[in-house]
Amino acid sequence: MSDLRDLYQETILDHNRSPRNYRSLADANHQADGYNPLCGDRLTLFLKIEDGIVRDASFEGSGCAISKASASMLTESVKGRTVAEVRALFERFHRMVTSSTETPDDFVDLGKLAALGGVREFPVRVKCASLAWHTLRAALEERDEPVRTE
Ligand code: ZN
Repeated sequence: MSDLRDLYQETILDHNRSPRNYRSLADANHQADGYNPLCGDRLTLFLKIEDGIVRDASFEGSGCAISKASASMLTESVKGRTVAEVRALFERFHRMVTSSTETPDDFVDLGKLAALGGVREFPVRVKCASLAWHTLRAALEERDEPVRTE
C-alpha cells in the first residue's frame, strides 16, 4: 500500500508541476468558473462539445497542488468521452472523495484519478480536489453563476 501511496503522491506532484491542457480554449462552447474560498483555489474550465462528445477540454487558474492536479487529470480524463460518460465520471469521482463505506481500492477503475482518493481523509482537501469537477458540471449545464464549493 505504501508503494501505491508513493505512486499517487508522485502523480499529483507531476500534474501540479506540469499541468496538462493548461490554456484557454478559443473555440470552447461551454465554460464555467469555480472558486474554493476555503483554500483560495480559482479556475476556469473550457470544453468544446460536438455531437454530444467532449472534443477538447482545458483549464486556467491558480490554486494549491491538489486543485491543479485534479483539474489537470480531469481535462485528460474527459476528452473523447460522451457527455453522459462525463456525468457518470463526475458521480464516480465524487463518491470516491466523499464515501465513507468504500476504500480507495474500490476505485482503481478510475485510473490515475484514483490518486486523489486519499483526500477523503482531509475534509478541507476534498473541496480542493472536487472544485474542478463541480465546475465541470456547471460547464455542462451552462450555469451562469460561478461555482463555489461552499
Ligand atoms: Zn486547494
